[in-house]
Amino acid sequence: MYHYESDQGNLDIALLGDCILTRKLSVFRESRYLEMVNSIRKNDLVLANSEMLFHEYQGTPAWDHGGTHMASDPNNISELHWLGVSMISCANNHANDYGPRGVLDNISNLDKFNMPHAGTGRHLTEATSPTYLDTPRGRIALISVTATLPANGSYAGEPTSLDRGRPGANVLRHNIQYVVPKQDLNALRKISEGLGFEKGKKRLVVSRNPGLRVDDENNFQFLNTNFAPYPKFEFSNFTVGDEYKVITTPNVEDLNRNIKWIENAKHFADWVIVSIHVHDCGKEETDSPDFVKEFAHKAIDAGTDIFVSHGSHHSYQGSRGIELYNGKPIFHGLGGFITQSSVKWSPWDAYQRYGITDQINPTPSEFETRRSSIGREYDVDRIGMHGSSYVSMQWERKECVKILVHPVTTSSQNVSIFKDRSRGTQGRPMPAQGEIADDIINRIAEMSSEFDISIAKENDIGVINLNK
Ligand SMILES: [Zn+2]
Repeated sequence: MYHYESDQGNLDIALLGDCILTRKLSVFRESRYLEMVNSIRKNDLVLANSEMLFHEYQGTPAWDHGGTHMASDPNNISELHWLGVSMISCANNHANDYGPRGVLDNISNLDKFNMPHAGTGRHLTEATSPTYLDTPRGRIALISVTATLPANGSYAGEPTSLDRGRPGANVLRHNIQYVVPKQDLNALRKISEGLGFEKGKKRLVVSRNPGLRVDDENNFQFLNTNFAPYPKFEFSNFTVGDEYKVITTPNVEDLNRNIKWIENAKHFADWVIVSIHVHDCGKEETDSPDFVKEFAHKAIDAGTDIFVSHGSHHSYQGSRGIELYNGKPIFHGLGGFITQSSVKWSPWDAYQRYGITDQINPTPSEFETRRSSIGREYDVDRIGMHGSSYVSMQWERKECVKILVHPVTTSSQNVSIFKDRSRGTQGRPMPAQGEIADDIINRIAEMSSEFDISIAKENDIGVINLNK
């Protein structure tokens, strides 16, 4: 009988987290750095979240953007290949930094350099649908979605018979319910009436949204009306309760669309990975928001094998805990792995945002100096806070048997202790050692304890043994 290797259900995977890449990685040669690169490369699959757009500034800078307007030379995609990255997720808050053209330019450059990608597309179906990677040990599907996006940008649109749809990202929106004591709800009602929002709500909003929930004694929609540059209506939903609480739930339409495509991916692949970009947090900044936790469990119920979240840039690098749900790992937050956020050119909008209004073309150094002078530095209250980690996993017979947490430092010009160091260090990962490695692992262990996951330490690496 002939045995197929891919039938064995064995796979080694590395997940790198957020990669903001604007410069080369392949020119450096410290032995510890090269050892790390080799240990990443030996995996069957290496997944990174590309919080970057690869283009040559043909697109138009978006007014509603993800922070830094991201731009990297398309040739840098080869640097990701050099690192061993075999697949990337593109749905994140930077997807639309250079408008629909930027989305399309990024996709065509990734295709040109043979980098499989998911999460953005010419329209919503393409952005939501998985990309596949064939490896000798099986076929892997990736669905990429973002829960964080600029207010007016990013969300891809479907085509109709008359138009082409809108290039953009696969988005998971969410609903927020604020729970407050009754007297606070009544105070909001009074404010809304006093400022005239109630009239606007009845006249302009309820009439255009027939399904809108009607206020009652214990529920109130506080209408926030912004009249510049044109009237824009947003609601905050308040309800009465005994304690102050924020309840978040996934938007049903976005949830169902993603679940449908996860089921489709399960049909065609041996492993399904769902990658989500989330800046938000739950009650504590180290928690995932409730709507992401709900999505993670539903995604696994629908056939996802690995659920990975990233983007929680809290306390600088933003790692979160690790959970096992029905035997499938959920990574609640991988931190920043490559953080080279110095782009070649920033647009006029960025200068305006940082108050540089007296010149049209400040040099990038003037811009960076101004930006870091107004509170871009993060507090580093624990030594491991300027560290991050990537994870790797071993799967045997389709079971996840081992997870390794590899602590790294990724120095950044935004952290004061790295400010005067060489540009060759900045944003580039290096394996952490000793006290720093310990602190990074301890921090992730603390955040994973609520999920009954314990992490042992072996030679500066965190080890989670799941083999029963
Ligand atoms: Zn982000």
